[in-house]
Amino acid sequence: MSVRVRFAPSPTGHLHIGGARTALFNWLYARHTGGQFVLRIEDTDEERNTPEAINVILEGLRWLGLDWDEGPAGESKGNRGPYFQSQRGEIYARHVEALKAKGLAYEHEGAIRFRMQREAITIPDLVCGDVVRELTDREQEQPDFVIVRSDGKPVFHLVNVIDDLEMGITHVIRGEDHLSNTAKHIALFRALDAEPPAFAHIPLILNSDGSKMSKRDDGASLDGWQQTHCVPEAVVNYLSLLGWSPKDDSQVMPMAEIIERFDLPQINRANARFDVKKMQWMNYEHLRNLPMPRYRQLASEAGMDFGDAAEDYIEAALVTCQNKVKQISDLPDYCRFYFTDAFEYDEAMAAKAFAPENKEGFAKLRELFANLESFEPELTETALKALAEELDVKIRALVMPARCACTGVKIGPSLYDLMAVLGRDRVLARFDRALARMDESGEG
Ligand code: GLU
Repeated sequence: MSVRVRFAPSPTGHLHIGGARTALFNWLYARHTGGQFVLRIEDTDEERNTPEAINVILEGLRWLGLDWDEGPAGESKGNRGPYFQSQRGEIYARHVEALKAKGLAYEHEGAIRFRMQREAITIPDLVCGDVVRELTDREQEQPDFVIVRSDGKPVFHLVNVIDDLEMGITHVIRGEDHLSNTAKHIALFRALDAEPPAFAHIPLILNSDGSKMSKRDDGASLDGWQQTHCVPEAVVNYLSLLGWSPKDDSQVMPMAEIIERFDLPQINRANARFDVKKMQWMNYEHLRNLPMPRYRQLASEAGMDFGDAAEDYIEAALVTCQNKVKQISDLPDYCRFYFTDAFEYDEAMAAKAFAPENKEGFAKLRELFANLESFEPELTETALKALAEELDVKIRALVMPARCACTGVKIGPSLYDLMAVLGRDRVLARFDRALARMDESGEG
């Protein structure tokens, strides 16, 4: 039987890291097994059910690259789903009638109650093992529970189970916080004459200090990672390791490898901990290895303005940055000098770099560079170092003014690499601007 899994979020206005991880595990299991991944919005709570709250979920999943496979019949392939519980009232009503007809549901004070079985229920869970759920003292007295409220609204347990049944879900992979609901769900499946699906309750995600993660905690909401332009591939990779690990403890993996290796038996029982630092490390590991076209795309999304620069130039410039920039949102500042001549000098740096004692050497460097055969990094580096030796000055005394002249700031790509990208004409023009400034301060 082909695997069918689902992500069934309730719209709350956020996509919490825990929800994103649940979506990911379901998606990975579907892709690993060649099954189907269904998205179902559990939007029966009308107050929270706003288009914005639903969009946060859809946008979050799209950003992560977790595509869903189907939706209500009749929708075209490119526009599939999701299912909305708010549109499925008739289906629920039909099943409630059937339960009533069998004597398994009955009216009580305007609401409809489900006649719950009186014995303990064993939940065979793929992660937690067999979990025996005894009746509580209160349930001993009254095990039946409401499935349709007196205002006519069906409750979560009922619609969740009916949908899993109607949608042919084979595996319910969800947070461990739902384990306590599962005995009710199993009883409902049986009452509906269906075999329950397999259950896999995945460990909770805690903060790195072991405290319970709430939506206000650092890193807890996916939109925070979206807004800081984290690499989605890195977020997926990091989330995949929250409660799962491949046998050899690999960490940095491309999506294809995660799909290939992901499976339910390797899900851990112990709670996972969310570590913002590790997420940032993972982000950098992915960022520095991205194929250039993807890197360029993320740079544009992060607000990088390439002006009217040529493609080759943009790529060459980005290559010198990719290994150095820890997060893509730092890139626009880091490589601005490539795309405009009109940058200011960092004054603290300029004061040192353009100090009078550096002037003579820097002017000589300009002449040397003007006459170099080519502007390859190896050549400029050798020439600069030879000149420092000849003048008996520190390499810094030439590098600092050159860097300040070319970029205006202290941090940046390798000087020789960035000069090769800028090209000789631009570098000499920037040297001249700096020399003019040194003249001014010399006079002043
Ligand atoms: N709407 C429920 C939630 O967001 C779904 C639970 C489930 O996956 O069965 O927690």
